[in-house]
Amino acid sequence: MPTYFECKKCGWSGNVNGRPRCLACYRRRVREWRSRNPDKAREQRSRYDKKFREERPEEYRAKRRKYYLPQTAKRARQRRVEWLKQGTVTNHDLIEIFELYSKRCVYCGVDVNPRFTPNDPRGFDHVKSRAQGGKHERENIVPCCRRCNELKG
Ligand SMILES: [Zn+2]
Ligand SMILES: [Zn+2]
Repeated sequence: MPTYFECKKCGWSGNVNGRPRCLACYRRRVREWRSRNPDKAREQRSRYDKKFREERPEEYRAKRRKYYLPQTAKRARQRRVEWLKQGTVTNHDLIEIFELYSKRCVYCGVDVNPRFTPNDPRGFDHVKSRAQGGKHERENIVPCCRRCNELKG
């Protein structure tokens, strides 16, 4: 005979894996606690991570591959987009730069296949990179092929 639980908060009734608790309300409480105690939450999280890594290294690595790394990549992409949006480059600027350098990569001279979207350009390089404090502005942009872009990092 399963034990049913009636949540005083939301009125839901049932059980979670035989345990008497309302998962929705439990999750909300955890979220609230975390936002009230960000430092403690971070500490708790890194303790949990460490324990997990030590006790179940295989599983940890699998989770890292599946979840953490894509998350990190996603955040990096978001930061890049934010940075691009702060730039002053226009579609017209990109076309002019492309024409100015005869539609070729400034580093190796091959033809470049560009995309003139200011917030998501392709076929261009920032001479002074974002990491070096460079800006997404006309003076900082040159046509660049994919290979050179990857080599430059
Ligand atoms: Zn509830
Ligand atoms: Zn090139």
